[in-house]
Amino acid sequence: MSHILKNDRVKVLAGVDSDKEPSRVVRVIGDKQTAIVQGRNMRWKHLRRSQDYPHGARVQKEAPIPLSRLMVVCPGCGKPTRVKFQVTEKAKTRICAKCKKPLGEGK
Ligand SMILES: [Zn+2]
Repeated sequence: MSHILKNDRVKVLAGVDSDKEPSRVVRVIGDKQTAIVQGRNMRWKHLRRSQDYPHGARVQKEAPIPLSRLMVVCPGCGKPTRVKFQVTEKAKTRICAKCKKPLGEGK
């Protein structure tokens, strides 16, 4: 289980989006340790002409961001925080390293 999950609110720590408000994780790409974050790390994608775009097009699309550059924003205390895991016999849950509240299961 990754410390960042889909639908988390995350803050981008470094790069051009580091001064922006937290945004939502659209997808976590586990085997690459990256995530797509809504409206962050936008890249221009140049499309060849096709049936949808008879003249080709430039569209903006989110590019993956390494998980190490993201920090979860805790819904309990509202701050970007490190993630700790609380392990019981039944389950492993993510908790906020600051206020110890659960961070949710990313659904
Ligand atoms: Zn917290």
